[in-house]
Amino acid sequence: MARHRIMGANGRILAAAFGVMGVTALAAVWTAQSGSAEADPGASPTPKPIVGQTSKPDPKLPDPVVNMDIAHASDKGAKGVNITIDDGPDPTWTPQVLQVLKANGVKATFCMVGPQAQAHPDLVKDVVADGHRLCDHSMSHDTTMGTKSSAYQSKEILDAQRMITKASGGVKPLYYRAPGGAFTPYSRQIAASQGMRPLGWNVDSKDFKQPGVDTMVNTVKNEISSGPTVLFHDAGGDRGQTVEALRQVLPWLKEQGYGFGFPVR
Ligand SMILES: [Zn+2]
Repeated sequence: MARHRIMGANGRILAAAFGVMGVTALAAVWTAQSGSAEADPGASPTPKPIVGQTSKPDPKLPDPVVNMDIAHASDKGAKGVNITIDDGPDPTWTPQVLQVLKANGVKATFCMVGPQAQAHPDLVKDVVADGHRLCDHSMSHDTTMGTKSSAYQSKEILDAQRMITKASGGVKPLYYRAPGGAFTPYSRQIAASQGMRPLGWNVDSKDFKQPGVDTMVNTVKNEISSGPTVLFHDAGGDRGQTVEALRQVLPWLKEQGYGFGFPVR
């Protein structure tokens, strides 16, 4: 399925835009706000800036409890790799992906679509039991949701969060990845207010195009130096190539000295 074909490019543009965002300028905004709040004890409380955050939260929305900037880094540091698996769970492909991850001792992050989690709670529980993390990937995988109303975006995110949490037996998703990378400042803050760090990616394996195992493996090998977060899929079409590509590229990454971690929160 070609759901990421168009929006993958936008995701990169978005990621790049946030990457070059004026950290100093925005930090200055925070400093000024903190300063004014301290100077006037009667002023309404200003939310404390979350460490490393460069985006300014909208005071009309619930406060973010995790950083609302799009995460790309790995909690394993400079030689970390974050394997992310999107669009499932799927009864055919998720068990095969889990098997390959387990065989290689790799923990990954699964970005699930709400109704699929609801339909396959056993698979969601298997993912959690193997030590992987959950990520909210919206209700209907609408890659144009960034152009739609706040109420729509909120429902897409929060309904999926509830479905995934129920299916897992109470384990909450720790991240939110917008379908196709279609984040908005609003959607990032709503997710962050629920403890879900917005999650981007650096390396798109393009497995949804089924380009062949060798091509996918080479894409990861050639692009991993650009950033740690790698995008794969366990649903949305025949993912046989994905399973085989993971089987080949995970040992290669280890040989190169990479360690497997989770996206920073
Ligand atoms: Zn997706």
